[in-house]
Amino acid sequence: MIIGIDDTDSERGLCTTYLAAVLMERLQPLGKLQDLPRLVRLNPCAPFKTRGNAAIALELDTSRPQEVREVALRTVTELSDLSGKNTNPGLVAVDCVSDDMRRFYRRAVTEILEIEEARELLDSEGAWHRSFKKGRGLIGALAAVGAELPDFTYELIAYRERSRWGSPREIEAKSVWEADRLTYPLTWDTVDHANQRVVFAPHSADPILFGIRGDDPSALEQAFSCIVSEPWERRVLYRTNQGTDAHILAADIGQAKNFQSYRLHGKVSEAPHAIAGGHVFFSLQNESASITCAAFEPTKNFRTIIKKLHPGDELEVCGAVRDGTMNLEKINVLDLADRDMPISPVCPQCGRRMESAGKGQGYRCRRCKTRADARTRVILPRDLETGFYEVPPSARRHLARPLVRESRQNAHPSR
Ligand code: ATP
Repeated sequence: MIIGIDDTDSERGLCTTYLAAVLMERLQPLGKLQDLPRLVRLNPCAPFKTRGNAAIALELDTSRPQEVREVALRTVTELSDLSGKNTNPGLVAVDCVSDDMRRFYRRAVTEILEIEEARELLDSEGAWHRSFKKGRGLIGALAAVGAELPDFTYELIAYRERSRWGSPREIEAKSVWEADRLTYPLTWDTVDHANQRVVFAPHSADPILFGIRGDDPSALEQAFSCIVSEPWERRVLYRTNQGTDAHILAADIGQAKNFQSYRLHGKVSEAPHAIAGGHVFFSLQNESASITCAAFEPTKNFRTIIKKLHPGDELEVCGAVRDGTMNLEKINVLDLADRDMPISPVCPQCGRRMESAGKGQGYRCRRCKTRADARTRVILPRDLETGFYEVPPSARRHLARPLVRESRQNAHPSR
């Protein structure tokens, strides 16, 4: 049996992953969990998400499906913040995953879907499901059930004791830096070196104490054992689509639509410029279309790279399109345009720079009286290498594949 859950929390508290962690404990007497629970991130542009648009799927080998469904329903009723304005829980349980469910996941991670689409598919498959209020959570719950993860990473999440929810988290920063030192690059996004910040713990009132992300469960364990913190109530290792670029579609600039995330190819057509607030914009174009690309203030040191771009540079850019603007997550600088500057010509006799002979009258050497018609141009060195650049860990989207996962020589990971 595969169980999917979504939309149980609100800005005020709780968390779908915590609910799933409690449910896993309650299901233990009723069957055996197969594989790791899946923490599935869906379209980061979904309009009603609370934070990171997460949904959960659990796979259970059980001969008591009726009791499993009852326990799941009771747990969702008990641990959802039903008073939340935008909390609309959904719960789905199926015996097997169909191709249509897999397609639904692919769409939920890249498009914006309607609740009706989820209901129709659930009905046509005869899948057991329950929902509360508007039932929007059925979208995420069904997508989590259908989630195939051809590429995946892990996250080990520790949850707080209930009595501490809402209070500041007690985590010794030094131990977190040490955990990163010992386990990076097999773990990532624990700290942000460039911005000197610990980034593996939320600041909200939810039950998560911290989460360690990475490619290797034993490295996650090693990092976990370094952390000195308040006591944790429980911990769960998830398999996840985080850090895989599952949300990115390859497209042509002219095809890019709002609320979707893309990889686009083109040339810088308008030099980067910063506006008040520190946001940096430039235009990217191909033969038939152009789009504004943005590195917003929270992307911090990434903006320094963006400011070095120049018209004519050939790029691939990745990010989400909102209000017609691509919010950059990373770029691949494929080719750097020559940057040149006009200067006065050199006198062929004495080797000194000539001077202007007056408007429209070319150049002349005062000493030798030689003349030249036009200025010459010098190629300026570029303070930028080709290759991949990304936003720092403090600004990373959950789904964005960090460059530390790339084996390419020309990746410049932000750490
Ligand atoms: P948290 O990360 O803290 O669990 P959240 O950010 O996951 O919270 P939810 O409370 O789960 O936010 O709300 C997201 C809502 O958006 C859910 O109802 C989910 O079903 C729905 N949703 C997810 N993906 C899509 C999509 N592609 N199109 C439309 N709705 C979606």
